[in-house]
Amino acid sequence: MTAPSPPQRPLLLLDVDGPLNPYAAKPQRRPAGYRTHRLLTPRWVAAEQRRLAAWDIPESRPRPLRVWLNPDHGPALAALPFDLVWATTWEEEANAYVSPVLGLPELPFIAWSVPRPTPEGGVFWKTPEIVAWAAGRPFAWVDDEIGEPDRAWVRDHHPGPALLHRVDPKLGLLPEDFAVLRRFAEDLAPDGTAIHAIS
Ligand SMILES: [Mg+2]
Repeated sequence: MTAPSPPQRPLLLLDVDGPLNPYAAKPQRRPAGYRTHRLLTPRWVAAEQRRLAAWDIPESRPRPLRVWLNPDHGPALAALPFDLVWATTWEEEANAYVSPVLGLPELPFIAWSVPRPTPEGGVFWKTPEIVAWAAGRPFAWVDDEIGEPDRAWVRDHHPGPALLHRVDPKLGLLPEDFAVLRRFAEDLAPDGTAIHAIS
């Protein structure tokens, strides 16, 4: 007789720009609790170099990317009953530049398809990739670009419970968002099915 496998925790798929870096907040007013980081990540430098070359000023130096991050978010995320996964265009750079600032360990990350998928019906390009990565496992996903077409797509294509939680990029993750995420995880039965209907 084999022992039953331990219950799997749901996944928490994390976007960076929007939920963790409230990039749409007023430029001169850093939101309370956040610290400013000016980063020259390889992806950002490559994008800046393309931009400068397009302007025909390739000899100019790339400007750093300004990122706001809240160091309280790391412990708050780690305390949630989820397995954390980066679901951001930062990909592996989230582990190099964001995790250390937040005090998070190195996390699995979704390596997006190249070229990006182009789903129809207003579905965000990340959505089919998220569902494929989750492979049926219950998940919550926080992102500033989630909309109703994404919720409908996930209902049709993902067999397990899922919470698609939009975060305002002017505000970033708030205590209410953490409460919603915790409630979702705690409402899952030990076998990962939904106890209550989840939208
Ligand atoms: Mg985003």
